[in-house]
Parts: sequence; structure tokens; C-alpha cells
Amino acid sequence: MSIEVNNISKSYGAQKALDAVSFSIQKGEIVGFLGPNGAGKSTLMKILTTYLLADDGSAVVNGHDVTANTKAVQLSIGYLPEHNPLYLDLYIREYLAFNADVYKVDKSRIEEVIQLTGLSPESHKKISQLSKGYRQRVGLANALLHNPDVLILDEPTTGLDPNQLMEIRNVIKNVGKDKTVFLSTHIMQEVEAICDRVIIIDKGKIVADKKLDNLISAHKEQVIEVEFDYKIEEQAIAAIPHLKSFKNIHDCLWELTFLSDKDMRPAVFDFAHDNGLKTLQLNQKNKNLEAVFREITK
Ligand code: ADP
Ligand code: MG
Repeated sequence: MSIEVNNISKSYGAQKALDAVSFSIQKGEIVGFLGPNGAGKSTLMKILTTYLLADDGSAVVNGHDVTANTKAVQLSIGYLPEHNPLYLDLYIREYLAFNADVYKVDKSRIEEVIQLTGLSPESHKKISQLSKGYRQRVGLANALLHNPDVLILDEPTTGLDPNQLMEIRNVIKNVGKDKTVFLSTHIMQEVEAICDRVIIIDKGKIVADKKLDNLISAHKEQVIEVEFDYKIEEQAIAAIPHLKSFKNIHDCLWELTFLSDKDMRPAVFDFAHDNGLKTLQLNQKNKNLEAVFREITK
């Protein structure tokens, strides 16, 4: 196991931020830690990275207990905190050199992490001159300096524009090939794009822990977009079995939402045939993970 969390609880004064949280992550997994703001994601990450002490429970990272063995834990993990604290006045290489000294890492590693995180084109700049996306890369490069086995990334893509977001996700996927990655986000699509597994937390409690495929199929919603050759009445559409809801996108184009384990495309095709319609297009759209997330955390 790369990360083991057993019954961790943590309160800030009267407020319970984590309530008996348990899970484990195997070596090499990329796990998304998903939850609305205030759910307790950062609190748990701070406990795993030894910045905070839990009130109750235990956690082991890379075989080391987070309370008994803080130094070994710190050497095992690369941590990108939520607001990515950087020294803005330093040049990228200066900043990385400073941290390489802290970690007693050979300076040759600096060029490696610059390469790994795609910083090369900007690597001559001061951190204050960088865009948010490049600042995140510096944070990641820093987290990778001592070549840790485990990466803990707290909302690494929050606040990035869509291009930067894609790029950082690719960097994470790439560096995650030979590491365990535990990353928090409140964006379901992010989990879908990068992760093998998702752990969902809400109000300090784990509410789901599933392989991504299982999570989608456990929630049976199925959306089918269909275009017929003629306009038809809503009443006719409403008669299709297992239909949960429908939307007329325009004239002959409909979005049908079913609740069923079965692939409903044949049923839609048969419906058209029985009603003397031709099916011009029929697409099963991706099941909406955003809806799954809302359902679980509502
Ligand atoms: P998330 O990262 O999922 O947004 P956090 O772990 O930051 O959630 O916060 C969990 C809860 O604990 C929130 O209600 C938050 O307001 C509270 N909290 C976090 N840090 C502190 C703190 N230092 N003092 C008091 N309350 C805090
Ligand atoms: Mg947070």
C-alpha cells in the first residue's frame, strides 16, 4: 500500500472537518479526491503530508506512519499545496536550486524536473512573470525534485484556463506513470480525465470510493441523442419505456434520458420504426459524471 488512512478524524474547534475517514491507495494508482468546497480535502492532505496532526486515527504513507515518522513521510511525498506558495521574486532555477538544497538533491535534478514539467520555454523567467499555468508547473517541478514515490496534489488545476488545464493534466498523467498520485479537485471531469479511481468526500465523510468505470455503471443514467426524419409529438416520445426525462433540442432532435442497465439504443430504434419514422442519427452520450457527483453529495 502506498497510502493507508484509518479512521482519521479532525476538528477545528467545534467544527468537524474529518469524521472517521478510511481508505487505502495502492502503489501506482492515480486517485482523484473529489468533494465540494469545505468537504475536508485539504485537511486530509495536510495530515498525510505531516503539516497537521489528526485528532484521532492513523495514516501511513509509503510504509511510514505520519506521526511517528514524519521525516521519512516527507521524503516519500511530493506535495503541491492548495495555493501553491512560491517565492515570486526568484527565477525558476533559483527557486528550484533553493529547494534542491533543502532536500539535499543533486543540482542536476533541476534540469530534469524542468524537462518533465514542460517548463523549458519559460525557464529563464522570474516566477512573478509566469502565467498561473506555468506557476503550477513550477510547483509540480518542486514537488518532483527529490523524486518521491507519492505525489499529493491539492487542486492542481483550479484557476487555470482550459488550455493550461489540459496541459497540466497531461503533465500529471505523464509524471504519474511511475508514481502514486493522490489529487484533489472539485471537478468531476478532471477525475474522468486523469484518474483510475475516485474517492468522494462530503462534509468530512467518505461517501463513495470506486473505480471510475464502476461509479458510472452504478448510476444507471443513460443519455441518448436521437434525430428522426419527422417532427413528432411529445406524448409519443413520453411513451418510450424506461424513459426518465426528455428534451427537444430542436425540431426532430431529441435528448432522451433513461434509467436502465440495458443499452437503450435498440429500443429507440424500434420505437422509430413502429411509429413510421426514420432514425437519422442515434448516439449514446457519455453518462454524466457531474450528475453522479451531485447525486452523491447533495
Ligand atoms: P476542502 O479542501 O475540501 O475545501 P478543507 O479541508 O479546507 O476543505 O476544510 C474543511 C472544513 O474545515 C471547512 O469547513 C473549513 O472551513 C474548515 N477549516 C479548514 N481549515 C480551518 C482552520 N485552519 N480553522 C478553522 N476551520 C478550518
Ligand atoms: Mg481545499
